Amino acid sequence: MFDVTYILVIIGAVICMIASARVNSTYSKYARIQSSAGMTGAQAAQCILERSGVTDVSVGHVSGNLTDHFDPSKMVVNLSDATYASTSVAAIGVAAHECGHVMQHHTGYAPLAFRAALVPIANIGSNMGLPMVILGLILGVGYTNSGALTFGGILCDIGIALFCFGVLFQLVTLPVEFDASSRGLKMLEQYNILNQNELPYSRAVLHAAAMTYVAAAASSILQMLRLLLLVSGGRRRSD
Ligand SMILES: [Zn+2]
Repeated sequence: MFDVTYILVIIGAVICMIASARVNSTYSKYARIQSSAGMTGAQAAQCILERSGVTDVSVGHVSGNLTDHFDPSKMVVNLSDATYASTSVAAIGVAAHECGHVMQHHTGYAPLAFRAALVPIANIGSNMGLPMVILGLILGVGYTNSGALTFGGILCDIGIALFCFGVLFQLVTLPVEFDASSRGLKMLEQYNILNQNELPYSRAVLHAAAMTYVAAAASSILQMLRLLLLVSGGRRRSD
């Protein structure tokens, strides 16, 4: 029998695919527009770090496409092939966003610390949550004769609770990402790296990138909803 709740998983996957296609097309559109100041992504990041008085973070090069990230364990802003040596408004926007994460780290931005604290349990939740619920459903989620939850029912509840931490992680990622972009854009303006005509282009790239995180969060909420529907359906059938 076809599991109708699987539709929620498919909707989530489609939302993520649309967001990912949009960020790729937006990036390649603005990767063709060169900034008038002519700085590369790496030079823009270096300039932002220097002008903001950050002396303990270096700028590095990492392979891949849009793999840019700030690594707080090594204190390095890693810029990808597409960003490091490019003078486009897209590359400079991404470089500034990563410097936004550096500023979050240096100013003790609370959602970033909370997100880092969630990593271990969120990883367990994303890996173990779904298998535990499925195993619980196979074992049976009804009640014993004395009215207590069966072993399968307990497994489902623990699996859903663990899965919730994965969802929470995705939700806390949203303010972290939006804030990094807004810090990055402010610094591009403040340090005259981009002019008023160029800033909206970088903003468009960062907005499209942020939408991939929104899509991922929406998709994991849909998956959680599916697990809840499966378990409550199983309990109703066993009544
Ligand atoms: Zn980011």
